[in-house]
This record gives sequence, structure tokens and C-alpha cells, in this order.
Amino acid sequence: MDQEQAQNRISELRQQLNEMAQAYYESDQPIAEDHIYDGLYHELVGLEEAYPDLVTSDSITQKVGGQVAAGFTKIIHDSPMLSLGNAFNLEDLQSFEGRIKKLIDEPIEYMCELKIDGLAVSVKYENGQFVQGATRGDGKVGEDITANLKMVESIPAKLNEPLTMEVRGECYMPKSSFVRLNEEREESGQAVFANPRNAAAGSLRQLDSAVVGERQLSTFMYAVANQGDLDVASQEQGLNALDELGLATNHERKVCQSIDEVWEYVQHFQDERPNLAYEIDGIVIKVNNFEDQEAIGYTVKAPRWAIAYKFPAEEAETLIEDIEWTI
Ligand code: NAD
Repeated sequence: MDQEQAQNRISELRQQLNEMAQAYYESDQPIAEDHIYDGLYHELVGLEEAYPDLVTSDSITQKVGGQVAAGFTKIIHDSPMLSLGNAFNLEDLQSFEGRIKKLIDEPIEYMCELKIDGLAVSVKYENGQFVQGATRGDGKVGEDITANLKMVESIPAKLNEPLTMEVRGECYMPKSSFVRLNEEREESGQAVFANPRNAAAGSLRQLDSAVVGERQLSTFMYAVANQGDLDVASQEQGLNALDELGLATNHERKVCQSIDEVWEYVQHFQDERPNLAYEIDGIVIKVNNFEDQEAIGYTVKAPRWAIAYKFPAEEAETLIEDIEWTI
């Protein structure tokens, strides 16, 4: 492929991906299956790596998806809410480790967590009281969904200690609530949600908080974004501290000493996925030690110290709607 052909394909891919991302993040109504989006995105990353002078700052590879919807107050995040780089096989995970080992000259511990398929949220506490909740938005500016998150039972109004801090996590709809909700919607002639992720995102990003209470959403918190008063040195300690404070975390997590051990965890949960009460779309692997994380750093879009292994598509599906795109 010469430079001109690459430029044409890059433009085409960006346009397709932007349309898909807009439907997914802004309307909560995807027009393509995730694996189709991921495949096109992967192709774009490959082309931008091969032709670095064709990378532009407005490319979807350089931005966190999502915008603030009309009707919501904007919240500027104290620190950006980022995306995650992707891995699709063991080799990708080994390359991830290779990049880290160039920077950290000692044994690395990895925290493996389930990648919950919901909506990223930020929750702030002041002196132990829940004061503000936000969506990720474009990563820098999110939507104020405080009233909606107050209706989610697993987010306590008060922590077990009067700490000031920001936590981040995933708000999701359990599979059983999703089935019930769609049955009710079908009976009353309303459009059904495509999947629990869209049902959760659609519920949180609407303006009537009473509706959120009925939708039985739940959360797993996975990050201390601003430690504030909390004194923790690793992801493992951070998650344990969140448990003690009364926040819900996912207990299927595991600290692994090698990528081989990470891979065993990945395969185990790939098999277990249908038996879980909530949807997951992969495994998030994070360097455990916070000092190591800071030394490894960030790209414009994602931490370099973490990666999301994406499960293969559960069944071969094509576009949700008929789109005349060449893939
Ligand atoms: P991502 O979903 O790949 O990864 C980042 C997100 O993972 C975080 O924002 C967080 O919400 C979530 N997460 C869940 N569990 C976590 C945990 N334990 N620790 C840390 N984070 C955790 O990134 P993204 O940029 O939001 O979205 C990209 C993905 O969204 C694509 O890979 C694709 O699957 C999907 N997407 C699909 C379409 C479509 O048309 N179907 C369009 C756009 C995006």
C-alpha cells in the first residue's frame, strides 16, 4: 500500500469508526458489534503505526470516546478518565510485558480484574459523604449524574470512614435485571435494549433519576483516582481499602506473578463468562505497584501500565443494522 492508498483507507476507517462511536457513546444505540468496531480500530492503529506522519490529533486513536449530552451539567475531571489499550492473544500480552520490562528492571506483579461491560463512572466523597457522580464523557469533561448515581444501591451515601477521595468504577446492569427490563419493555411496546451495557448506559444518561432506581443497576469500583486521605501503594491495597470503606469491588481479582499466570486467569474466565451474573467483555491487566505505574506512564489515551484483553466474539455476528461499509 502506498502513502496515498494508506491515507484513503485511514480516512475511510476514521469516518466509519466515528459514526460507530457516536452511536455507541452518545446515543447508547450501537450500530455494530464490538468485535467489528475492534477489528476496524485495530486496522487503523496498524496503518497509523506504519505511516506515523498520517496520524492527526483528531483521529479516534488519539481521543477517548464520548461527549456530554444536552441537558447534563458538565463536570471537568480532576484527572482524565482514560481508555485502555487492547490485547487479543497471548502474544499481545507478552509484548505488553516486553514494553514494561524495558522500563522496570525488577519482577513485576500484575493485578488481573474482570472487564465489566457497563459505563465508567467517577464518584467523589467529601468527609465520607457522597457529593458528586460523573460519566467519563470525552475523558476530560463528563456529565453530572449525581442524582442518578444516588439511586444505585451499591454506591453508599456515606463511607465507613470520613475520607475525602475520588473513586472510579463501572456501573452495570446484571443479566437478570436486563432480561426483566426488556420483557417489560416488550410488553409495553417500547424498544428493547441491545445488551446490558447499553441498558445501563441509557439508564444512567437520562434525566429522570426515579427511572434509575427501578432499573436495578449495580457497580464495581476499580480505581482510587485521587487518593486524598487514603494511604495505599498498590492496586491490590487500593481495592482492599475500597472494600473496607463499604464500596463494592469485584472479588474475582487476582494478583499474578507472570504473564503465564495472567494467561491462565484469562482462560479460566473466558470459560466462566456465561456463568457470571453480569456481562464482561475481557480481562484488565494492571501493573500492581503504583510507583511502577507512574514510572511506566501514559499515552494520550490510555495508561501504558494496563491493558484490556478482549474476549473473542461470543458468536459470529455482523452489523446490527445493514450498513454498506467495506470491512
Ligand atoms: P474499553 O471499554 O476498551 O476500556 C476502557 C474501559 O474499561 C474503562 O473506561 C472502564 O469503563 C472499563 N472497565 C471495565 N472494567 C474495568 C476494570 N476492572 N478496570 C479498569 N477499567 C475497566 O475502552 P473504551 O475506549 O471505552 O471503548 C472502546 C471499546 O468500546 C471498544 O473496544 C469496543 O468494544 C466498544 N465500542 C464499541 C462500539 C460499537 O460500535 N459497537 C463503538 C465504540 C466503542
